[in-house]
Amino acid sequence: FQSKEPPRIHRLDESVVNRIAAGEVIQRPVSAVKELVENSLDAHSTSINVIVKDGGLKLIQVSDDGHGISYEDLPILCERHTTSKLSTFEDLQSIKSMGFRGEALASMTYVGHVTVTTITKGQLHGYRVSYRDGAMEHEPKACAAVKGTQIMVENLFYNMIARRKTLQNSADDYSKIVDLLSRFAIHHMHVGFSCRKHGAARADVHAVATSSRADAIRSVYGMSVARSLIKVETSDNDPSSSVFKMDGFISDSNYVAKKITMVLFINDRLVECTPLKRAIEIVYAATLPKASKPFIYMSVILPPEQVDVNVHPTKRELCRIKVSLLNQEVIIDKIQSVVESKLRNSNEVRTFQEQI
Ligand code: ADP
Ligand code: MG
Repeated sequence: FQSKEPPRIHRLDESVVNRIAAGEVIQRPVSAVKELVENSLDAHSTSINVIVKDGGLKLIQVSDDGHGISYEDLPILCERHTTSKLSTFEDLQSIKSMGFRGEALASMTYVGHVTVTTITKGQLHGYRVSYRDGAMEHEPKACAAVKGTQIMVENLFYNMIARRKTLQNSADDYSKIVDLLSRFAIHHMHVGFSCRKHGAARADVHAVATSSRADAIRSVYGMSVARSLIKVETSDNDPSSSVFKMDGFISDSNYVAKKITMVLFINDRLVECTPLKRAIEIVYAATLPKASKPFIYMSVILPPEQVDVNVHPTKRELCRIKVSLLNQEVIIDKIQSVVESKLRNSNEVRTFQEQI
């Protein structure tokens, strides 16, 4: 028997809504690390250290030496939609910070246990407080602290059984976390980064602050990459077609790898751009005799009005970039041709050297 009445509609409990939303913002441990590290960068840190236990499911700890969090703000720190970075919608147009939606910390408190230790400039001691479901669990406790903020996320997805199971079974997120920090470390070369497993003596990412991009790449990706780097640069200032600036490093024919490493920042945001990646792969396949996959680091700067930052944090594709299709093609073509000429040059020099 089917009842004639349609199913009744009711309002979801706020705690259900929050947990669902949180599970979207924080999809896996590496998403939590990305949000925490971006917060540390937004706080003008010069040193960011990450410790991970059990692929991030047991513990993620990010410590920085940034500006810290005011005591007065601690009660609302982990509420949804609380931020120090944005006030009006129009601010989005020119926003320089990574964050602005005030959702990351809140989300972590809905799917894990969050403890914050922080101290601001001129204070004699810091404060420590734990959060659950957006709220403080107790009054902040005075504690010793050096400089900046340390955020600990424990037992991620403790209340999402299916998610936890999948993550436990899949290869753990630690390598994704190392990869993420490696990318941040070479772009933000003035910031020192480290990442280690809990209890490990050795760090898997250890990048001291430097003013040389090549040094940063060497300390993170090693000698074999560093030995084979070619500097690339190009820019355009034609308002009718494209306005952009690109600079970076690409590997030459000495570098051998099975997979492309493409580290791309657009206006200082870590993104993916499949069309650009393809365009570069094509050049390498056509130019180098042994079709080796390249290492690419590029930083592209576009006029802020061409970049739509208001895309969900889980989407890293170029859809963040609101360039018209024509524009995008012009930019990709320009980058492709500078890569091609640099690569061809270096390859000719090498062939010549081998002949003599
Ligand atoms: P958003 O980054 O979008 O503002 P978050 O939930 O990531 O939202 O963080 C909320 C607020 O907490 C930030 O706006 C910032 O003021 C503060 N905050 C978070 N992490 C740090 C940190 N490491 N150092 C200083 N302030 C922080
Ligand atoms: Mg943030």
